[in-house]
Amino acid sequence: MVNDCFIGLGSNLGNPETQLRFAVDQLAALSSTHILDVSPLFRTTPVGPQDQPEFLNAAVHIQTTLSAHALLAAIQEIEKAAGRTPTRHWGERMLDLDILSYGDDIIHTADLIVPHAHIGERAFVLVPLHAIAPHLVLADGRSIEALYRTCNKDGVWYHSKADWRPAP
Ligand code: ADP
Ligand code: MG
Repeated sequence: MVNDCFIGLGSNLGNPETQLRFAVDQLAALSSTHILDVSPLFRTTPVGPQDQPEFLNAAVHIQTTLSAHALLAAIQEIEKAAGRTPTRHWGERMLDLDILSYGDDIIHTADLIVPHAHIGERAFVLVPLHAIAPHLVLADGRSIEALYRTCNKDGVWYHSKADWRPAP
């Protein structure tokens, strides 16, 4: 079965733009997975510890036949391949990939919560996601348009690199 999924991307170590491009290339290379759309880049103030660099964030729309847990394992491999090592909670990282939504599934397991647990209050997730999926309605009925409209967008700036990643 083909599932429509959205992945959130973030990085604030090394060369964030390079890592995000790497992430999109690696997602595209996953078996039975296609990239449908990639958002522009946004510069964002860190949530959590403030003594860390600002982030670059983006969102990617994919279609995949991988199961949700297989997709989670795959994105964790990509994080590792980008040099991610464990750091403090909400700390700096080479690459962070989160499953924002997975088709119409609602998942609550020990290692995977979908739709993503913090999607509703994180502008660094909602702003890129809204850029490519303004009409998306999450499996729990919440609309991205409504969440986007009401979220606090302080600390999120358009990085305006439309060509950071060629359209698929
Ligand atoms: P965060 O993204 O909140 O900063 P981490 O990237 O360190 O946190 O991820 C911590 C754990 O979150 C992962 O080991 C993973 O099992 C779990 N997790 C739960 N739901 C998701 C999801 N939707 N996407 C990615 N990871 C998730
Ligand atoms: Mg994560």
